[in-house]
Amino acid sequence: MRQTVRFGRIFGVDVGANWSLLVLIFLVTNGLATVVLPELTPGHSTTGYWSAGAVCGLLIAGSLLLHELAHSVVARRAGVPVERITLWALGGVSVLGGEPASPRSAFWIAAAGPLTSIGLGMVAGGGALALSLFGAPQLVVSSALWLGTINVFLAVFNLLPGNPLDGGRILRAVLWRRSGDPDRAEAGAARAGQVLGVLLIALGFVQSFTGEFAGLWLVLVGLMIMTSAGAESQTARLRIALGTTRVADVMSAPRAIAYDATSVDRFLAEIVPGTPELVYPVVDLDGRAAGTVALHRLVRVPRSLAPSTRIAEIRTPLKDVPVAGPDDRVADLAVRMGARTLALVIDHDHRLLGVVDQQDLGRRLRLLAEHPAPRPETA
Ligand SMILES: [Zn+2]
Repeated sequence: MRQTVRFGRIFGVDVGANWSLLVLIFLVTNGLATVVLPELTPGHSTTGYWSAGAVCGLLIAGSLLLHELAHSVVARRAGVPVERITLWALGGVSVLGGEPASPRSAFWIAAAGPLTSIGLGMVAGGGALALSLFGAPQLVVSSALWLGTINVFLAVFNLLPGNPLDGGRILRAVLWRRSGDPDRAEAGAARAGQVLGVLLIALGFVQSFTGEFAGLWLVLVGLMIMTSAGAESQTARLRIALGTTRVADVMSAPRAIAYDATSVDRFLAEIVPGTPELVYPVVDLDGRAAGTVALHRLVRVPRSLAPSTRIAEIRTPLKDVPVAGPDDRVADLAVRMGARTLALVIDHDHRLLGVVDQQDLGRRLRLLAEHPAPRPETA
């Protein structure tokens, strides 16, 4: 989910929102102002309903943020870096920069969000009770009660057992603890997510036919869960297939290398015709890996400029290229590569040791289908 605005850093975590968060805030405000609040507490002014609705809309966004921050804070404490939190139309997303080391940390990172939502629900519910005892206006009491209910609902919904919901992450932690294999546990939780997504879509359709607007929302959420769980299931299967195979066992020597100082013109004339590559590794003047250059970038340089354009000017810099050390797990590299053509294998000094392309990965996967790889050992 792309961040449209960045709010800043909270507890050291980059927090932002996608524009679609406004849709969520509007839907909540509109639903409360025109339907929920007039039903719960009749007799108030339109302005009153809309003001209370807007405050609740903002507080819901705040609740989602606290839910995500809880995941992030526990993750950081467990040594897992948190890249960012993004709020959007269907809730919040925390992007973690790594894997928890144990099923126990995985469990608490996942559980922290729903526990926070339940806590918020209880605070809002208790607040509603206190407000009504002290004779606060009924509109305020109803709004607080609604906020409490929604937070508890969010917790319960998120605890449904399937990825990418928190309940799926909890299921994965439990399976991981039982089997000792994080990848198979991930595959199980992802499969559960796919089933859950289908069930929610079916339920949403049934609801839509009975004229309930919430049905449409369920279909959307179900679709999102099904798609995301499908992708996670694919990743998990890749990890299972590649097992503990090291990058060094899969990499190959580059058939051709592009040098920073070479002109595009010369590279196209002398190297490209003799090689089938679509992407070439690039090495700088000191002999260190500097990135990659794709054939389509090379041919896009206008003829007249090709003699004076150096490879260095058009290459993809190393920071945007998947890289790995020879002892890293191929499974991790394969996930980082995704659909990208080429990864570079480098040593601590950034010297180019080899490359891994999709063909190397495909070949290894075919071999492993015959002779399965050893599984990682976990305590
Ligand atoms: Zn969560």
